[in-house]
Amino acid sequence: MVTASAVAVVGAAALAGWWSAQAGEPSGNAAAPAVTGPASATPSAAPITGQTSVPDPALPAPKVNMDIAHATESGGKAVNITIDDGPDPVWTPKVLQILRDNGVKAVFCMIGPQAAAHPEVVKQVVADGHRLCDHTVSHNTAMDHRPDDYQRHQVLDAADQITQASGGVRPMYYRAPGGAFTPYSRQIAAAAGMRPLGWNVDSKDFQKPGVGAIERTVRKELRNGPTVLFHDGGGNRAQTVAALRDLLPWLKQQGYTFSFPVR
Ligand SMILES: [Zn+2]
Repeated sequence: MVTASAVAVVGAAALAGWWSAQAGEPSGNAAAPAVTGPASATPSAAPITGQTSVPDPALPAPKVNMDIAHATESGGKAVNITIDDGPDPVWTPKVLQILRDNGVKAVFCMIGPQAAAHPEVVKQVVADGHRLCDHTVSHNTAMDHRPDDYQRHQVLDAADQITQASGGVRPMYYRAPGGAFTPYSRQIAAAAGMRPLGWNVDSKDFQKPGVGAIERTVRKELRNGPTVLFHDGGGNRAQTVAALRDLLPWLKQQGYTFSFPVR
């Protein structure tokens, strides 16, 4: 059944693109809920395969999926190692050495001003084949309660700082501190080419519970999903380094491979 208003929306969709086309769909499609806003989408904005979030047509269109990623690019029995809150001139090189020793690639979620302060570390991360992730300017874990303008600066200014520090390599992901994502910040990031990045396993290494406790947490919680969170900044990360030294070979023994998160 097609209502008069649906006909009007579908007619506009021919010009306005996919979002308004979705608005013309019956409401039963849970994967693509109807848009209620005005149909002012950029005509060139192509639909993104698999994306369940509905972009705000008033904002820049996502270039990558704006849903929060957890899966691996490779599929299969694989994990994504993600390392947050650096770069740090002491701890990041130690983490890099262990990744190198084990032939593992990871994602480094960097705080913008720290990247700006330690460009040589950022460049080494890139040279070793790891991927960069934007972890904002101020690491404000309550940023989801702040105005859009604040969130935009947190995301985009850090991306610029990281890109400059790396020598032009742009972050491929955006991870909100403490998971404080909003639909707005996810779209702003995705429009800048950065896939929002979540996690499944928090190693709790930040709390320095002891090397054994970090390892037990990871081993136990791996059933939750493939993306594992560690830290190379924010304090003394000796426990993290020691835990990675044990966990990476253990993961291989268990039959895991190492991937990057999907984009
Ligand atoms: Zn963090």
